[in-house]
Amino acid sequence: IRMDINNFSVVNHRFGYLAGDSILKEIGNRLSNFKDRSVGTVARTGPDEFALSCYLKSTYEIQKIILGLKDIFEKPISLPSGDTLNIEFNVGIAFFPQDAKGAEDLMGAAGFALKRANREASSNISFFSDKDTKALLSKVELLDFLEKALEQNRFLLYYQPKFSLKDGEPTPTGFEALLRLKSPNGEIVPPGKFISVLENSGLIREVGYWVVEEAVSFLKKINTLDPDLELSFNVSVNQFKDDKLIRVMENAISKKGIDPKKLQVEVTERVLMEVGDGSFRILQAIKDMGIKLLIDDFGTGFSSLVYLKRIPADTLKIDKSFVMGLPYNKEDFEIVRAIVLMARSLGKKVIAEGVEKKEQLEVLTAMGVDEVQGFYFSKPIPGDEAIRLIDSKIKGVKK
Ligand code: C2E
Ligand code: CA
Ligand code: CA
Repeated sequence: IRMDINNFSVVNHRFGYLAGDSILKEIGNRLSNFKDRSVGTVARTGPDEFALSCYLKSTYEIQKIILGLKDIFEKPISLPSGDTLNIEFNVGIAFFPQDAKGAEDLMGAAGFALKRANREASSNISFFSDKDTKALLSKVELLDFLEKALEQNRFLLYYQPKFSLKDGEPTPTGFEALLRLKSPNGEIVPPGKFISVLENSGLIREVGYWVVEEAVSFLKKINTLDPDLELSFNVSVNQFKDDKLIRVMENAISKKGIDPKKLQVEVTERVLMEVGDGSFRILQAIKDMGIKLLIDDFGTGFSSLVYLKRIPADTLKIDKSFVMGLPYNKEDFEIVRAIVLMARSLGKKVIAEGVEKKEQLEVLTAMGVDEVQGFYFSKPIPGDEAIRLIDSKIKGVKK
C-alpha cells in the first residue's frame, strides 16, 4: 500500500515547514501504531509518501485496513501553532502475487495505483487492478456500516416456524432464528446482502455472540408458553473456528436457565467439510452441553456416509433446491427419497426446508419426512408475531 498527502507543497507553503514537519511526524506515528495483526512494515518512502506492507489471508481483509487508514489520515492534526488541520490523502493498493512478481514490482504496481488515485476525482483510493477497485471499495462502505451496526442495535432476528408431520396435521415444533439488518431508512435487509462481508472481515464472531444471546432469550420466552418448543440458529465457517462461541453459549444457557435440549445449532455440510477435523472439537463441545445439532443444506456438500457416521448430528435438513423440484423432477424426487432413507438408517431426524406448495408437502409427508419449513406455512417473522402465532395455537387447542 502506498500513500501520499494531497497538495503537501501547498500545505508547506501556507503553514510553513515546521507545520509540514509535524504533519509528517504525526502521520508517521499514527501509521507505526496501526493496530492490526496483518500490518507488517511501515516506511516513509518519499517526501510526503508512506508505504505499508500487510499480510492478508484474503483480499477482503483489505477492507479493514482501508477503514484504519481513513481513521489515521482523517483525524485532525494539531500544529505547533495551536491550529488544527485536516489533510487529504491518496492510497494505491496492489496485491502479491496477483499484481506483481516480486517486491520491486509490487511497489511499482502500488505506485501506479497511487498515481491513479491522485488523478481521479471520484475516489482517493485505487487498486492496481481496476476490477478490485469497484468490487472491494463498495464493500468497504458496507463494512464501515456493519462495524457500527452492533452498538447501534441494527441487528435483529426473525423467526421461521417449523412443523411436525407426525400427527397428520402439521403442528409447530419451534422456530429457526434468521439474522436481519435494519437499514437507516428502516428497511429490513436479509443476510444475503451482508453475511459474506461479516464472514470475510471476521465481524461474524461478534455478531454471532449477539445472535446466541438473543436466540436464547427468545427460547426462554417461548418455553414459558410451551416447554416443548425448540429454537435453532445458524453458525458459519469463521464461527466454527471460534472457541469463545462455546463459552458464550454456556453462559447464555445458564444465565437464562433454559433447557439446552431445546436449542439447536444449524451448520451446513460445507462448513463442516471446510473446517475439517478441527470441527470435531466444537461439535463435541456442542453435544456435551446437550445442544442438538442439525446439518443444514443437506445434499449440496459431498459428505460421505463414513464422514456422516462420525458427525454427532441429530437432524438432516434437506436443501431447498431439491424440495423446489418436487414432485415432478425425477432426480430431485430420488435424491430426497434417498436422503430420507439414509437419515432413517442412521437414526437421524429429517426436515425439509423451502416448502412452498401443497404438492411438495404431500410428497414429503408420503416419504415420511419428520418436519417441514417454508413459505407455504410461513415466512420468517418478527419475534412478537412468532409469539402471537404460538399464543393463538395454544388457545386454539384449548377451545
Ligand atoms: P439458511 O440457513 O439455509 O436459511 C434458509 C433461507 O431460506 C432463509 O433465508 C429463509 O428466509 C429462506 N426460506 C425459507 N423458506 C423458504 C421458501 O419456502 N422458499 C424460499 N425460496 N426460501 C425460503 P435468509 O433468512 O435470507 O437467510 C439466508 C442465509 O443466511 C441462511 O441460509 C444462513 O445460511 C445465513 N444466516 C441467516 N441467519 C444467520 C445467522 O444468524 N448467522 C449466520 N452465520 N448465518 C445466518
Ligand atoms: Ca439454516
Ligand atoms: Ca438451508
